[in-house]
Amino acid sequence: MKKGVETYCEMCGNRIDGPSFSVKFEGSTITVCKSCYEKIKKHSTLVPRETKPQPAKQKKVAKTEETELDIDEDYPKIIKEARERLHLSTKELAERMKVQENIIKRMEMGRLKPTIGEARMLERILNVKLVIQVSQGKGKSQEPEDQTLTLGDIIRIREGKK
Ligand SMILES: [Zn+2]
Repeated sequence: MKKGVETYCEMCGNRIDGPSFSVKFEGSTITVCKSCYEKIKKHSTLVPRETKPQPAKQKKVAKTEETELDIDEDYPKIIKEARERLHLSTKELAERMKVQENIIKRMEMGRLKPTIGEARMLERILNVKLVIQVSQGKGKSQEPEDQTLTLGDIIRIREGKK
């Protein structure tokens, strides 16, 4: 048995033998006996006895918000090849895209990068993949990945082997 753990009702002051109730009443949290709780429960909120430690639900894969959409750099080639494969003229493709033929030509020359919307349309019409996801996270990932071997090193290795 637990010894010395006696709870007194904060309403009537009696020792609580039965179940006690923690309630939020008039702004403060008090522990009361059952009969007092019955009296005040309409004006109070029962406070959950055990505040279980929240299970760490942080396993959500943090959505990589830094993923951005971009157009495949090879778009001129992709568009042209797919268009020719489908035996479409630039004009026909332009009509399907509802753009000027000039736009298609410029895209195929690499002078005009399609917007994501245009690329999506081209993807559907030409059955190609133009929109790619670019991850921008991990700081500046533009750094050279591995510089342990420079061209000079490779040459030196080759020379050494001879
Ligand atoms: Zn009481």
